[in-house]
Amino acid sequence: MIPLRPDLPRVRQPHRIERMRALLYPEFDRIENAVVPEPPPPAADEVTLRVAACGICGSELEAFKNHSPRRTPPLVLGHEFCGVIDVVGAAVSGWGRGARVVSNSLVPCGTCVRCRRGDSHLCATRQIFGMNRPGAFAERVNVPARCLLPWPEALSAEEACLAEPLANGIHVARLTQDLPAGVALVIGAGPIGLFCQQALQVLRGSKVVVADLSDTRLKVAQRLGAVRTINPRNEDVTAILREMTEGEGADLAVDAVGAAVTKTTALQATRPGGGVVWIGLHDNAITLESFGITLPEKRVFGTYAATLDDLRLALEWMAMGRVDAKTWTTSLPLTEAATAFRRALAAEGSDIKMIVCP
Ligand SMILES: [Zn+2]
Ligand SMILES: [Zn+2]
Repeated sequence: MIPLRPDLPRVRQPHRIERMRALLYPEFDRIENAVVPEPPPPAADEVTLRVAACGICGSELEAFKNHSPRRTPPLVLGHEFCGVIDVVGAAVSGWGRGARVVSNSLVPCGTCVRCRRGDSHLCATRQIFGMNRPGAFAERVNVPARCLLPWPEALSAEEACLAEPLANGIHVARLTQDLPAGVALVIGAGPIGLFCQQALQVLRGSKVVVADLSDTRLKVAQRLGAVRTINPRNEDVTAILREMTEGEGADLAVDAVGAAVTKTTALQATRPGGGVVWIGLHDNAITLESFGITLPEKRVFGTYAATLDDLRLALEWMAMGRVDAKTWTTSLPLTEAATAFRRALAAEGSDIKMIVCP
């Protein structure tokens, strides 16, 4: 054995790599329960969380189906999560081991021009968990401390992890705050649609009409307070909205599907001077009659993601019981995550939102 020369810098003890269970997206068209290396020790501004719950998001299912170049395998997905802090980075203050936290899905840089003007969700170099950095369908994940909010005592892990999709709904309601929203149409009664519905009800006092192809989902929308539900298989969305509004149409329409047909329906079902929000990401290129925006002076908003402040409000509303994020979800252990993911892909059963609990 060669003795260490004292003038040489000491070789750092390599970090012993422990393994953990995770839902792995190893290559296109494959998703599997796997054992992967644990995250490295957190960077100075990060913590390592023991993940308590992580929701399966429609955007991940779409990305998987479409081989999205925005989420390229090998990857651990998962961006809607909460957990308990296990390791605290050297420069982190205000958070300690054992703290219950909810994470933002985005990591904004905090210093670029967009971050400085308050649009941190539009940060040019933002990272997204399960996209540009490892996600939370795993036992452990590293998170920058500036992405964390306290996880309220009153909320279960399954509820707290859904603060992120609720924050997206809150973002929609806030984005359109200057427009009337007396009668609002929400197309798509998936998790984002149901959270947009509830956010409009709570923030704007809107009467919300919900359209979806699934009667099971429409029943949930109704239970959550929709004044009218429409299944476009047998009813005409635009005609019904006009009937309800002296021939005018909805004040505001939110398309939480994003298909070509739902984007145009949202436009058509809105009254002159009304607003349309496109949040769904199903189809990219669509054919559009642009005069339908110009002549009746409609306003079209695009939106994606939410700010940390939207997430804060989401947690507040949930803790106050103003939003139901509980009675329409299904949770499964991490060991069944691959099954859950495939079930969600096939849209089998009546699951609307599936949550993985490590
Ligand atoms: Zn999501
Ligand atoms: Zn930035």
